[in-house]
Amino acid sequence: MADVEVIELLKKLVALPSVNPEHTDDASIANEYRVADFFAGYLAERGFRIEWDRMTPERGSVLASYGPEQPLHTLLLEAHLDTVGVADMVIPPFEPRVENGRLYGRGSCDTKGPMAAAMTALCPRVLDLLAEAGVRVLYIGAFGEEKGNVGAERLVESGVGAHSAIILEPTDLSIVYAHKGALWFEVLVTGEAAHGSDPDRGMNAIFAMAKVLQWLQTRTAQAQEEWNNPALGGPTLNVGRIDGGIAMNIVAHRCRIEVDRRTVPGEDHEAILSEVRVMLSDLQVRGAIRSFEVNVLKAGTPFQTAQDSVLVRGVQEVLVEGGCEPRLATAAWYSDAGAFARTCNEIIVFGPGSIHQAHTVDEYIEIDQLMKGEELLTRYFEWLSGHVHTFGAANSG
Ligand SMILES: [Zn+2]
Repeated sequence: MADVEVIELLKKLVALPSVNPEHTDDASIANEYRVADFFAGYLAERGFRIEWDRMTPERGSVLASYGPEQPLHTLLLEAHLDTVGVADMVIPPFEPRVENGRLYGRGSCDTKGPMAAAMTALCPRVLDLLAEAGVRVLYIGAFGEEKGNVGAERLVESGVGAHSAIILEPTDLSIVYAHKGALWFEVLVTGEAAHGSDPDRGMNAIFAMAKVLQWLQTRTAQAQEEWNNPALGGPTLNVGRIDGGIAMNIVAHRCRIEVDRRTVPGEDHEAILSEVRVMLSDLQVRGAIRSFEVNVLKAGTPFQTAQDSVLVRGVQEVLVEGGCEPRLATAAWYSDAGAFARTCNEIIVFGPGSIHQAHTVDEYIEIDQLMKGEELLTRYFEWLSGHVHTFGAANSG
C-alpha cells in the first residue's frame, strides 16, 4: 500500500506547512505558498494551465484549468490550501505518518486528503475523457478558508464560476447539498455617563442595548416563520458576548454585543444589517442612544442545491456503483461552497475523511476512505463525461 500514488501525494502535501496566518505567529509554518506552489506544479505537469490570484506574495489562490476554451460544461473543483494552527497537537504536525490504516498529520483530513484524492483522480486518461466530452475542469486551490473564506470570496467577486462544482472537504463521502450561512456582527451603542445617584442626567447604553436585544429576538422569531427551511431548519440568533459600563454607580456610557446570526437560503445579509441600522437610528432619534456602530466580523452566505439536481443525482449514482450509501446531508459547519454557490449553478461539498477529525490534536484520515474518495471522484468524472447534455446550459465559468 505504501507506494499508492494518492497516499504518497498526501504525505507530500501534509509535509508542506500551510497554516492560516491568523492561526499562528510562527512565520516558518504560516501562509499557503508552499502548498500552492506544489499544487500548481503538480497540475501544470498534468497539462493544466495555471493562473494565480495573489493577495500578497505569500498568499494566493491557484486556478488550474484543463480542457476546451469553449466548453459545453465547466466543472469547478475546489480545495482550500490552508489549515488551522498546530499549537496543541499531540503528533508531529508536518511529519506524515501511516499507522493502523490511518495517515496522521495536520491537514490530512481537512482538507489535503480530499485535495489529493481529486488531484490523482484527474489522471491523463480521465482528463482526456472529460476534454473530449467538452468539459473544462477548473481546479482551484484557494487560500484563506479557515478564517473568513477570503480566497474564495475574492474569486467569486471577480466572477469565477461554473455549471457545476464540488467543494472538496471531509464529508465522510456524504453529499452535503446545503448549509446555513453565518453573519457575525457587533453592535456598539454609546450613551452618556452620569452619577448613578442621578441617572436622568445621563443616557444609559446598557438599558438601550436591552431594547436592541429584545428587538433582535423578536425579529429573528419572525424570520424563523418566514424562512423555515425543511432541510436546514430556520434561521437562528445567538448573542455570545456583551460588555459595557464602567462601574455600578456610573450610568453606562457604552455597551457592545457580539451577534451570531445563522442564515438560510433566501435571506439577505445586507437586508438583515440594514434593518438593524434602521432600528438603531430610530433609538437615536428618540434620544435613547448618542451614537451607534454595526460592524460585520464575518459573513458567509448559505447555499442549497436541489436534491434532484443533475449533480446530486450523478454523485448518488456513482456512490451506489462504488458500493457506498448514497447519503445526502446538510452541514452545521460553513465552507467555501457558500461563496461559490453565487456563481455555480449546482454545487455540493464532498470528500473522504470525517469532519470529526478536522482541527483535532491528532488529525488523521482513514486510508481506506482516502482511496475510496479517489475512486468515487474518478467514477464521477467518467459519469460526467457521458452526461454533459443532462445539465442545463446556463452561466459558464
Ligand atoms: Zn476544511
